[in-house]
Amino acid sequence: MLYREIAETYKKIEGTTKRLEMTDYLVELLKKTPVDIIDKVAYLTQGKLYADYVGIELGLAEKLTIKAVTQATGIAEKRVNEMLRKFGDLGAAVEEALKNKKQMRLFSFESEELTVEKVYENFEKIAKSEGSGSQEKKIKLLVELLNLATPLEAKYIVRTVEGKLRLGIADMTILDALSIAFGESKEMRKIVERAYNIHPDLGFIAKKLAKEGIEGVKNIKIQIGIPIRAMLAERLPSLEEILEKMGGKAAFEYKYDGMRIQAHVGKNGTKLYSRRLENLTSQFPDVVSAINEAFQGEDGIFDGEAVPVDVNTGELLPFQMVSHRRGRKYGIEKMIEEIPVVLFLFDILYLNGEDMTTKPYEERRKALEKWIKRTPRVQLAHRIVSEDMNEIKKFFNKAIEDGCEGLVAKNIGEESIYRAGAREFLWIKYKRDYKVEMADTTDLVVVGAFSGKGRRKGTYGALLMAAYNPEKDRFETVCKLGSGFTDEQLAALPKMFEEYKIEKKHPRVWSELEADYWFVPKIVMEVVGAEITLSPTHTCARDIVEKGSGLAIRFPRFTGRWRDDKSPEEATTTGELVEMYRNQIKKVKE
Ligand code: AMP
Repeated sequence: MLYREIAETYKKIEGTTKRLEMTDYLVELLKKTPVDIIDKVAYLTQGKLYADYVGIELGLAEKLTIKAVTQATGIAEKRVNEMLRKFGDLGAAVEEALKNKKQMRLFSFESEELTVEKVYENFEKIAKSEGSGSQEKKIKLLVELLNLATPLEAKYIVRTVEGKLRLGIADMTILDALSIAFGESKEMRKIVERAYNIHPDLGFIAKKLAKEGIEGVKNIKIQIGIPIRAMLAERLPSLEEILEKMGGKAAFEYKYDGMRIQAHVGKNGTKLYSRRLENLTSQFPDVVSAINEAFQGEDGIFDGEAVPVDVNTGELLPFQMVSHRRGRKYGIEKMIEEIPVVLFLFDILYLNGEDMTTKPYEERRKALEKWIKRTPRVQLAHRIVSEDMNEIKKFFNKAIEDGCEGLVAKNIGEESIYRAGAREFLWIKYKRDYKVEMADTTDLVVVGAFSGKGRRKGTYGALLMAAYNPEKDRFETVCKLGSGFTDEQLAALPKMFEEYKIEKKHPRVWSELEADYWFVPKIVMEVVGAEITLSPTHTCARDIVEKGSGLAIRFPRFTGRWRDDKSPEEATTTGELVEMYRNQIKKVKE
């Protein structure tokens, strides 16, 4: 097949913004494409060579592309750069340059025409060549194409090779076109889409359809190693509306604020994919070994959220703390040790050879509970099944205190299948709409401590901190403090607190947390935090702002200042924290 056919279709597509027209042009193209290369044509219309999850991308650096253009056209690099500036895009610049050149050579009988196969082959070699000498090789491969190309073809070749084709054709438009080109009926579109949702590879679907018809597409099954398009959640503005929409009863899960991970565990090893279906396996070797250890079956596909945790306080941390792992090949081991991630699983899509996506939510959850052994690195999403608004609201507060964004409600009816690739009301998310950022430092009293883990073995992992309630003359807990210490300070903590150690919780301390060590309230430390949240766990100002809730400080950090000048009764009071909370409430912007 001639590449000219593709280039001309691109040109027509660029000339319209109407989806229907675009679809028609694609249908025309697909119909005249030989079955053997229909997958390649499908990828090329997306400016790609493979399905995204394969991870092989075109994206030749502009500098190299310019070199190739210079060689192919004989125009000096400086001039090419000028043209690039003028046209704003190298593709258009090349088209123009070649137009001039070809006019001059009109009678040279250069008659070999570019085929799709040839273009794809050279693209593939460009994408795959690495190591020494690869730059020259890539340039050569591109020059070869440009020498054979018409100006129009050259434009699209350059754009594609730079990874900038951008015709604006959505995957769904290609599915439309495929269904029309090879379709027998309207129902087919749905079948094609379902296949794409569980096997998001346009080339694969195109070929199946062209070769085997709709029956072939119906037979596409979930496969370990092929990522499934993620199910997404709708949104409603209040928990009341959510409960009503769910028919008065639903499961409510913590909405973890980390990175979505789809884990495929099979005989040929474990693979991890992001929500956008990129392969993440090499960035999270710790998640790979954790899921391998936790999963007790033969093979399975799991959906979950990976969240970094503070090993000593158990606090969930912002995902940015591990996002620098992305794209790294080296030094990952050290990062893993310092900030491990926990995988919170909330769904199972495949189990021991069986497709689980067609089973209702409760059945999938039961399968998770049965086949996943809980470990420190693999947990199931925290959840309740409830019809009681008070209970749900309390659970929501707890989710926020624990570092989550809110809740995801899940339908528990028979219809609650896993709808790959869909955003519907089977899942409804509810995020908090306000936040209390902490502007001031606080002076808090140490009332207890927790044993350290990992690098902190032998010393304290965190101190239990309290505010003072002058009316009740007692100390009410508000956070676990584990950050802001130097290594020396950490090592010295046990000795320092030795003289205040007591057997049991001090009578003037109100705590519902069981500390490993209890102290006489004496030492005051200056602490800053990121925000104040409502807290079902901590006792500080309980029932004052909201019934059943106290206040907690998130991400507390020691400023380095010991307030020796303050007695524990001069510490920040519970009333002051209530004031801070009320005065600093802010809407959360989306
Ligand atoms: P959003 O990104 O705001 O549309 O929210 C949806 C995202 O929440 C999903 O893509 C997941 O990454 C994440 N998430 C966290 N916890 C859960 C959960 N328990 N169930 C479903 N999604 C969750």
